[in-house]
Amino acid sequence: MNDENSTAPVRLRAALDGIAAYTPGRPPRTPEGVESFKLSSNENPYPPLPSVRKVIDQAGARVNTYPGMDLAELREAVAAVSFVDPAMVVPGPGSSGVLQQIVAATVEPGDDVVYAWRSFEMYPILVSLADGRSVQVPLLPDGRHDLASMAAAITARTRLVLLCSPNNPTGPVITHEEAAEFLAEVPADVLVVADEAYIEFSRDPEVADMRALMERHPNLVVARTFSKAYGLAGLRVGYALAHPVVAEALAKTRMPFAVTDIAQEAAVASLQARDELFTRVEELVAERERVVASLAEAGWRLPRSEANFVWFPVGERTPAFVAACEAVGLSVRPFAGEGVRVSVGAPAANDLLIRVAREFGA
Ligand SMILES: *Cc1c(COP(=O)(O)O)cnc(C)c1O
Repeated sequence: MNDENSTAPVRLRAALDGIAAYTPGRPPRTPEGVESFKLSSNENPYPPLPSVRKVIDQAGARVNTYPGMDLAELREAVAAVSFVDPAMVVPGPGSSGVLQQIVAATVEPGDDVVYAWRSFEMYPILVSLADGRSVQVPLLPDGRHDLASMAAAITARTRLVLLCSPNNPTGPVITHEEAAEFLAEVPADVLVVADEAYIEFSRDPEVADMRALMERHPNLVVARTFSKAYGLAGLRVGYALAHPVVAEALAKTRMPFAVTDIAQEAAVASLQARDELFTRVEELVAERERVVASLAEAGWRLPRSEANFVWFPVGERTPAFVAACEAVGLSVRPFAGEGVRVSVGAPAANDLLIRVAREFGA
């Protein structure tokens, strides 16, 4: 028992000892007088669209009442753009919330959850909270999932597999061929989640069409969010697409009223304003490509990013790279001993990153 627990006033679960609290991207520690940019949480640099703002303001007038429970409006709006039945859409409080619902629906104490590593920091936390066992399969050197090793890691104890495409923090996607081959090897009763938090930023023509693969694989669930491309991170809304029977199970694990009316209505308004929002996504993709090209020119060989961030595998030089970024006003996300993830932001912030990385040297 550690010191913290021996002085705790109540008995707490041992599982919590192994969990490091989720580290949110922190605001930059910048020298005084220097403009700062938060590039540590993969947030969308654009403010909400006026049409979305209006809906948020209007829904704000009704917060004395509980939100609706069935979320029918949002389910129908998502279903229409995803070409599925509304019964297959499970909204949740962010896709982190949806992932927690998925773990709650599948993992008993001691069950295995297989996922790539390094990947989304939330995965080990959610698995530990359920008393599950994380089976982390190292990424390939180019930051892609090692799907052959992941398939080999699945045993009779495996209840859940998490795929992250594009992968946070390294950036590459899983291709259609890779996903199809992998799913053919996974036992049909093991749930596979494709976490596609950044899929709207992918321009890889080979990227997996996970929704299409769901038709052949009812054990496949797609998780998406309004936090990144749609710019609603502060409202906490995401969803899963799942076989209707799985969807019904997942809905049972959602905390009642977890998705507020404000979140639901802003998400629906965002889907209605999709063309306008996707113009912004296009601009962010163009910025990513500009950053990547400039970095390549400066000698940086980075994993192929299909998301709104780039990954610098600087290993032991991580603290030095972070310090160089902070000195010019950029807050970034370090992973000690491994590297640094930097979000694509407004052009002025991206210019600073290019300058810092060039001076730092690949
Ligand atoms: C940001 C992110 C999410 C979900 O974020 P929410 O704000 O909870 O919707 C899910 N998966 C990955 C890999 C992410 O980076």
